[in-house]
Amino acid sequence: MSADALLIVHGVSAFYGSSQALFNLNLSIKAGQVMALIGRNGAGKSTTIRTIMGVLPPAQGSVHLAGRALEGLPPYMIARAGLGYVPEDRQIFPNHTVEENLEIADKPGLRGARDWTIPRVYDLFPILRERRHGPAGRLSGGEQQMLAIARTLMGNPDVLLLDEPSEGLAPIIVNRIAEVLIDFRRAGLTVLLAEQNMHFCLRVATDVTVISKGSVVYEGDIEAFRANDDVKLRYLSA
Ligand code: ATP
Repeated sequence: MSADALLIVHGVSAFYGSSQALFNLNLSIKAGQVMALIGRNGAGKSTTIRTIMGVLPPAQGSVHLAGRALEGLPPYMIARAGLGYVPEDRQIFPNHTVEENLEIADKPGLRGARDWTIPRVYDLFPILRERRHGPAGRLSGGEQQMLAIARTLMGNPDVLLLDEPSEGLAPIIVNRIAEVLIDFRRAGLTVLLAEQNMHFCLRVATDVTVISKGSVVYEGDIEAFRANDDVKLRYLSA
């Protein structure tokens, strides 16, 4: 565990009823890292993010953001503490307009940061500007993913947690989302990215954590991961 990490998950176990999904999981993310959390279907990527966010509170272990303990807090307080969560199912408000979805989410960050504004997220995803007066429920899947990311940015989080943002989207949209994540990386945003798509991660991430059967089995920077065929073969090939 790194002492200078911004987000530290330590010794976390989590259950769905009597079924254990995470086993003594450790994860640490430093400021400015884009950490890919990679693993096969059912490895525990979504559960890790849901546990960090308090949607599935951990049975054991701790979660710290900038030294503050978050485990046991309700999700809205964890969000207020500086974690911005983009869930796999996006959870936009379909009957509100695109712009209303963004307005509802507009909040300063923990230390009053107002880095993200509606014009800035429209610059990031120009299609949302074009669609701003239409209901969010009419957007395509890719546009809804963009809106989900934009809406989370409007809360000015310290760490952005993305759950499988490329899943089920057309290649052209996946490419646009990859470009946006590369921009985030260049701008020094801190991101935890749960993904099954290894090639997507290789494009955008600075670091990689591999999860298998609810435990971390590998950690390394992106170049070490790229060179490690053994890990890719053992934990990620079909
Ligand atoms: P995927 O890519 O399929 O989303 P994942 O790596 O995100 O995979 P999780 O969804 O976190 O994996 O699932 C981890 C384990 O927990 C799996 O064995 C899964 O069957 C189980 N699980 C996930 N959600 C639930 C739930 N709501 N109730 C019971 N078990 C669940």
